[in-house]
Amino acid sequence: MAYNKPIPEPDPLGKPFWDGAKAGKLMLPRCVDCSRVHWYPRHICPSCHSDNIEWVEGSGEGYIHTFAVQHRAMGGWAEEAPFVTAYIDLVEGDRMFTVLRGVDPTKPESIKIGSKVRVEFEAATDDVSIAFWRVAE
Ligand SMILES: [Zn+2]
Repeated sequence: MAYNKPIPEPDPLGKPFWDGAKAGKLMLPRCVDCSRVHWYPRHICPSCHSDNIEWVEGSGEGYIHTFAVQHRAMGGWAEEAPFVTAYIDLVEGDRMFTVLRGVDPTKPESIKIGSKVRVEFEAATDDVSIAFWRVAE
C-alpha cells in the first residue's frame, strides 16, 4: 500500500538523520565541544552555542516523557485516528516527537509515562524513511 501521509522533505542540515533512517539507524547531532546531543538538527549547539556539531548513532532507546491521544487528524492520518503522539526522552539526551506505536489509544490509562520505547523506521518512499517509537516489551 502506498504511503499516504505527509512526507518530510529532507534538508541538507538533517541529511545524516535521513540517511541513517533509511539504513535503520537513529542518527543524532552531538556537540563536539560540550558532548550534548540535541534534537532537532541545528547549525549551533543549543547548550553552548558551538558550531562544532558531529553526528553519532543513537541507541534507539528512550522513555515516554508525555503523550496525547489524537482523536481527529487530517489527510492520511485521519484513517488512523485515534492514535497516540508522544514526546520521547532520548537516552542520549533531548526529546523527539513521535507517533507512538504498540499502545492502545482507546485505553490511555494503560500507557505509562516513563515506559521504555524503541525506535523503528517505516519507508515512506524509496528515499525517505520515517522514525516511529514503539513501547518495548
Ligand atoms: Zn555544545
